[in-house]
Amino acid sequence: MQPNYLRLYKSGELDERIAQLYGVLECCVLCPRECRKNRLKGERGYCRSGEELVVSAIHPHFGEEEPLVGRGRLWGVGGSGTIFLTGCSLGCVYCQNYDISHLEQGRPIGAAELSRGMIELQNMGCHNINLVTPTHFVPQLVKSIRVAIESGLQIPIVYNCGGYESVSTIRLLEGIVDIYMPDIKYSDSQNARKYSNAADYFIHCEEAVREMHRQVGDLQLDSRGIAQRGLLIRHLILPNDLAGSREILRFIAEEISKDSYVNIMFQYRPMFKAGEYEELNRRPTLDEYRRAVAMAQGFGLHRGFGS
Ligand code: SF4
Repeated sequence: MQPNYLRLYKSGELDERIAQLYGVLECCVLCPRECRKNRLKGERGYCRSGEELVVSAIHPHFGEEEPLVGRGRLWGVGGSGTIFLTGCSLGCVYCQNYDISHLEQGRPIGAAELSRGMIELQNMGCHNINLVTPTHFVPQLVKSIRVAIESGLQIPIVYNCGGYESVSTIRLLEGIVDIYMPDIKYSDSQNARKYSNAADYFIHCEEAVREMHRQVGDLQLDSRGIAQRGLLIRHLILPNDLAGSREILRFIAEEISKDSYVNIMFQYRPMFKAGEYEELNRRPTLDEYRRAVAMAQGFGLHRGFGS
């Protein structure tokens, strides 16, 4: 299966999308914060990002879900070609990657250099290009993909995001992204406000995930078990059910698809500022995790779950 972005490139539509996306940067509404800052003139909004793309790491990653990494993980073959973007438009108090998102470790990089990184990942045998926390840099990333296409890029693009997305931005990614991998972090608006300063998190997340599924459908694997297209949802179990897992799993099963691939993640650790919140300051128990998995099965979900 060839990635759709090659068709968009050939038709010239990709250039139009890049122009539209850079237009958004003049009055930035890339994400639901809608800061309306002119990032092309050096203004910065909530995410503190400007025009320049900043990246913290580019390398094959073998710790992602098996459909992204492949079965060669034991031998270090294949893997997901991860590009970790610096900064974040969400900013959770318990961020598991806080050194990159809050402390902004990384370096500026141009489209030409990033596109070379994409081609190197492809040449190393990675199964996809995995853009980690891409929301605040969508225009710059799509521009880099275009440059990489001219050098032979032909593996799927993974949009690995926090789920706090503007549906207008996701619409502009139709035919460019092959695999959407959003978190669904909360159904509870009070907790979303308290821990991520985003009381409207679930409203935007629901709308964005519906649009992602409309574009790419359920996750499709090739004969090797490698993801080629579709939706892969992540849900991180928080202690004391602070995420509101039942409503999230119900939404996925009843409003997206019972065939959704869902990774119910058990790896939460209290990090960054989590220690300031007693209820967040421990790992979830195995019992809490098993309850969430049983809930997912109860709603008829049957793909994924492994953490
Ligand atoms: S991407 Fe950044 S500047 Fe743009 S709306 Fe979101 S938080 Fe604000």
